[in-house]
Amino acid sequence: MSDAPIIVWFRRDLRVSDHPSLSAAQATGRPVIPLFILDEVVETLGAAAKWRMGLGIDHFQKTIAKIGSKLILRRGKAVDVLLDLIAETGAGEVYWSRAYDPASIARDTEVKANLKGISFTGHLLYEPWLPKTKVGENFKVYTPFWRHVRAGFDIDAPLPAVTHLCIPSEWPKSDVLLDWKMSANMHRGSTVVAKFVHVGERAAVIRLNKFLDTAVEGYKSDRDFPMKPATSGLSENLTYGEISPRTVFNAGQLALEQGKQGAEHFLKELVWREFAYHLLWNFPKLDEICWRREWEDFSWRGENSDATAWKQGRTGQSFVDAGMRELYTTGTMHNRLRMIVGSYLTKHLQTDWRVGLKWFEDCLIDWDPAANAMGWQWIAGCGPDAAPYFRVFNPGLQSEKFDKDEGYRNTWLHTGKHVNAQAFFDAIPISWELTPDTKNITEIIELSQGRKRALDAYSFFKERQTQK
Ligand SMILES: Cc1cc2nc3c(=O)[nH]c(=O)nc-3n(C[C@H](O)[C@H](O)[C@H](O)COP(=O)(O)OP(=O)(O)OC[C@H]3O[C@@H](n4cnc5c(N)ncnc54)[C@H](O)[C@@H]3O)c2cc1C
Repeated sequence: MSDAPIIVWFRRDLRVSDHPSLSAAQATGRPVIPLFILDEVVETLGAAAKWRMGLGIDHFQKTIAKIGSKLILRRGKAVDVLLDLIAETGAGEVYWSRAYDPASIARDTEVKANLKGISFTGHLLYEPWLPKTKVGENFKVYTPFWRHVRAGFDIDAPLPAVTHLCIPSEWPKSDVLLDWKMSANMHRGSTVVAKFVHVGERAAVIRLNKFLDTAVEGYKSDRDFPMKPATSGLSENLTYGEISPRTVFNAGQLALEQGKQGAEHFLKELVWREFAYHLLWNFPKLDEICWRREWEDFSWRGENSDATAWKQGRTGQSFVDAGMRELYTTGTMHNRLRMIVGSYLTKHLQTDWRVGLKWFEDCLIDWDPAANAMGWQWIAGCGPDAAPYFRVFNPGLQSEKFDKDEGYRNTWLHTGKHVNAQAFFDAIPISWELTPDTKNITEIIELSQGRKRALDAYSFFKERQTQK
């Protein structure tokens, strides 16, 4: 039997618990070389995601050191780095956790064609190609997808944490993380956003337990209120694999069995992430092309000065501006606000959903290739299971419903009232030339006018479609 080392190539799976490929490598009893590559996929991440990935790697290096091993860092095209490392170390195989976005698939396909690689599950609860309707088709609508997977798929218990790895006789050389400058595109933002991140496996588990102990009971009723600590915040950790979806699902299932209200709803939300990957798997251009192709003919505007104002949180709609400032300051945004700002951009401002998608991709620390694309197509009305275009969110009414006491808007807009509102000004590029005086921001467009403009454009679009 071979005693050649196994390379475990970490990507979006920065954990040692419930890690099928790491456990499998450990079980062989052979030396394991943990590796992270700053490869062609990681290089192109948006500013915030790349920076946050750097924090995750830094933390994970320490986790791996604690179990007596070492995370080797290398930079370059994945296939070249792996072939070099195999030549240097005599490694027999490379193990990794599967990724399902087109850029990762292209990279991994090339890798697999050139060396002995074995891929494992771990990033999702279900392989995205498995759920099928009764007639063997892919799902396009969430509710039947949910019913199908809930009834038809068992979720195994998470694997125990790997606590020890055999080490190679000699460690290959490693890059120094700081030299990678993962924060380069964050400019002034990183020191501000750093105050809001929860990095690493332990932080993720604490988050999960806290949510299940204190918030899950009210999840169904409170999750739309941005000032209530009603959601788990786990998207940040799930996206870098600092916790496995299986760990989250099983804990949620246990809470359900303990009779905790809201737990079933939480599981249902978690499975939206699976649905997003199901859609992306079946339509790899989900972030590029309208799922309903006819929407490519809609009169979207590309980048424009209104969209710039939207990005900078100065549309004159306080709920929208608060959301955009939360995004820039924390690298996340409450789900309700993601829908409101998305609707406002694509409907009131008639701007292409891909402008918003790209901005989120650059700013979100929980950026996920599938969830972001699905969210934008959903809100723009061009996705498979989308909110109809004529459902135009009114930010004013939304704020009355979900931020009645203005707590959220005060937090992000009024510098005199909350420290976070000031933090936004510490994070933004100086070139934006914004002053903390929010009183002078005039509305880009009055809400009823914007709504009318959107609905007129929709009628025109529909008319043109029927004439085709
Ligand atoms: C325009 C738009 C863009 C989005 N972009 C992203 C993104 O880049 N990354 C991302 O993780 N989520 C994205 N979402 C989905 C959602 O906003 C976040 O998952 C959620 O806000 C995360 O907060 P939480 O972890 O507290 O969620 P919780 O309410 O605690 O939910 C638990 C988990 O379920 C999953 N989940 C919940 N809702 C959704 C959803 N609608 N779609 C997919 N997964 C979901 C997430 O993994 C989340 O962590 C987007 C939504 C919209 C409308």
